[in-house]
Amino acid sequence: MGDMLSAARTRMHRAAENLDLTDELVERLDYPTETLAASIPLRRDDGSLTQLKAWRCRYDATLGPTKGGIRFHETVNQDEVQTLAFLMTMKCALMGLPFGGGKGGVQVDSRELSTMETERVARGWVRAFARIVSPNRDVPAPDVATGEREMAWMVDEYGHLSGSIEPNSFTGKPVALGGIPGRTPATGRGGMIALEAVRDSLGFDGDGGLSIALQGFGNAGTWFAKAAVENGHTIVAVSDSSGLVRHKDGLDIDALIEAKEKEGSVTSFSGDGVETSDDGAAIIEQDCDVLVLAALGGVIGDADDVEKLACKAIVEIANRPILPEADEPLRDAGIDVVPDILANGGGVTISHAEWVQGRTGLGWKDDEVADYLEDKMQDAAQAVRDLMDQSGLDMRTAAYGVALKRICAAVSAAGTVE
Ligand code: GLU
Repeated sequence: MGDMLSAARTRMHRAAENLDLTDELVERLDYPTETLAASIPLRRDDGSLTQLKAWRCRYDATLGPTKGGIRFHETVNQDEVQTLAFLMTMKCALMGLPFGGGKGGVQVDSRELSTMETERVARGWVRAFARIVSPNRDVPAPDVATGEREMAWMVDEYGHLSGSIEPNSFTGKPVALGGIPGRTPATGRGGMIALEAVRDSLGFDGDGGLSIALQGFGNAGTWFAKAAVENGHTIVAVSDSSGLVRHKDGLDIDALIEAKEKEGSVTSFSGDGVETSDDGAAIIEQDCDVLVLAALGGVIGDADDVEKLACKAIVEIANRPILPEADEPLRDAGIDVVPDILANGGGVTISHAEWVQGRTGLGWKDDEVADYLEDKMQDAAQAVRDLMDQSGLDMRTAAYGVALKRICAAVSAAGTVE
């Protein structure tokens, strides 16, 4: 059994113990329902052949078809895919969606692939896992280094293999191919809604602007930053894999996005009062109200990392940026965390809207998507706050508690734990 998954499960068990949930019901969530591992042959542009390791995990389908993205990253492994699928199980339950949790991955450095090689990897992934993907069984979506383009290739490949057109077997598609407007910004925008919805429980009274440091300037990070500025907050520092950029009075986010699009990095940004550094990891030391982690997993791993922090609260927009080993030190330091399963739940929520759209064949309008996102984020945040009030639990444990109670209620309603 993987280390990452067993560490992740401790948070679920903490919630279960505090809420007196039946062990048998919770234990069924200790290990995934099924994980398929495959080798994907990749013909490189230079004619050589490479084998890539790939996975799809369906963690738990108590609440509905398994749902979760596919990531392309050089460090992906089976333990991580299973851990992320476990998180999706908790996230979908917390967000009140009729989905279980799943995740997929390919162990590959996406930056080293040409566009045509990326297409071959995307299609190869579908050939390997088409037997478990299906609109009513397992519905993948984008994750790290995958997006609309990869979903378009995957849907096409799936159609060729299955002989029927099944766009609803994937979400996060381009709008022109059955996607939904607003899916791409949904994770970042949803994160902002979550932060506003819990800001007083983080100790920020009133509705004044907060100073924010942002780690990660990919899809989720950029949309979060835009939403933050719209809401009157100030982004004092941003980092990406190239380094970090700071401005004590706040960065011009639209100009920063433009610079990153042109030059590929935030450190290419310049202007009056703008400071840059190639030490991107130092972003966690930035003095600010809220540190937003929107890059990869494991960036705050232990007490030593917690010592470096100079923020009052953290929002986890990435999946598992804070490891369980850091939970206790964070509590001792009085730094509250808006956990990933709540803060980044907006992405899968709008995937659900896309899936509903695909099932009915009726298109959603921009404002309907925005209202659905707002309602779902508010409902989830309220459920977490209610449980925090009743139980005195911290926000993450309460979020797991809400999710677990819903899954356990469904298992009990089925009248069996077998
Ligand atoms: N990859 C996203 C997540 O981690 C979205 C998953 C989905 O839309 O199914 O939540």
